[in-house]
Amino acid sequence: MILVTGGSGLVGKHLKDIMPDAVYISSKDFDLTNIDRVDDMMNFFKPKIVVHLAARVGNLLDNMTYPVDYLEQNVLMGVNVLKKCHEYKVDRVISILSTCIYPDVLDTYPMKEEDLFNGPPPPTNFAYAMSKRCVATHTDSYVKQYDKKWCYLIPCNLYGEYDKYEEHHSHFVSALIKKIYETEDVLELWGTGKPLRQYMYGGDLARVIKYMIDNDIVENFNVAPDYVHTIKELAEIGVKSCGKEHLEIVYDDTKPDGQFRKDVDSSKLLSVMEDFEFTSLESGIRRAYDNFSQRHN
Ligand code: NAP
Repeated sequence: MILVTGGSGLVGKHLKDIMPDAVYISSKDFDLTNIDRVDDMMNFFKPKIVVHLAARVGNLLDNMTYPVDYLEQNVLMGVNVLKKCHEYKVDRVISILSTCIYPDVLDTYPMKEEDLFNGPPPPTNFAYAMSKRCVATHTDSYVKQYDKKWCYLIPCNLYGEYDKYEEHHSHFVSALIKKIYETEDVLELWGTGKPLRQYMYGGDLARVIKYMIDNDIVENFNVAPDYVHTIKELAEIGVKSCGKEHLEIVYDDTKPDGQFRKDVDSSKLLSVMEDFEFTSLESGIRRAYDNFSQRHN
C-alpha cells in the first residue's frame, strides 16, 4: 500500500484526486515530529511506498519570523519518517523538497539538480532550506549505504484549488488570487515587481508523483514549467485570467523583493516524461480563482 504524509495539504489533496486508493495522513492522525507516533503509523499501515509531503510550509515573512520552528519541525519529520521507512523496509520513498532551497545566487540559470549544494541558500528562508537539504542528504545517504530505491523531487512554488490562503502561509500567486478577489480598484503588491518566478499548478506535481510510482522511476528531479515570469507579468496574467483587467496594480518598493531568481531546469524530468504538459498559468489561476470565489461566496 501507498502512504502519503501531508495528505491534508495542497499537494496531498491534488494527489488524492488522482490516486484515491492511497492512505493520506495529516498532523491530526500522526504528529511526525514525534518518532513514537511515526513508529505507530508505520506499524499500523506497513506501507510499501511512502510519499513524504508533510512539512512546515509558509511565506517569506513566516520563514523570517519562525526559523527555529521551520528547522526543528522539518528536520524531525524528515529524520523520523526516513528512519522508520528503513526500519519497516519501505521499498520506495519519494520526498518533496523545494526550489527555494537552491543556492541564493549562481552564475548560470536555470539551475540543475547538481547545483543544489553549490552555495548557501537565501538568508530569508535559510532554516527551511537547510532542513530540506537535510532530507536530500538523508535520502542520498540511505541510497549510498543501503542501496535504497528512494529519491526526491524539487518543485518550484505551487498554487491550486487546495491552497491555504492565510496570510502567513500563502506564496505569491495564492496571495494574488485572494487580493484579486477582494480588491475592486487598486491592487497593491510588495517589492519592485522585478524578481523572476516559476509557478506550477499543484495538480501537475501530483501527476509527476503518480507517474513515478506507476512507472517505477527512481531519480531526483526538478519539477517546474519552463516559463519564467517577473512578478509584474504574473500579476498581469493573474488579473486577466480572473477577468479583472480593470484593477490598477501598484508596487510598494519599500517592501522586500525576496530572492531575485531561482528558476530551475526540468529537462532531466522531461527526458523521462516526454509527453508531459504543464498546466498553463492562465488556466491554473482561473481554476484556483473560481474555487476561491465559490468558497467565499
Ligand atoms: P501544506 O498545504 O502546507 O500542507 C502541509 C502538510 O503537512 C499538511 O498535510 C499538514 O498536516 C502536514 N504536517 C505539517 N506538520 C506536520 C506534523 N508535525 N506532523 C504531521 N503532518 C504535518 O503544504 P503543501 O503546499 O502541500 O506542500 C507539500 C510539500 O511540498 C512540502 O514538503 C513543501 O515543502 C513542498 N513544497 C511546497 C511548495 C508550495 O508552494 N506550497 C513549493 C515547493 C515545495 P495538517 O493539515 O494537519 O496541518
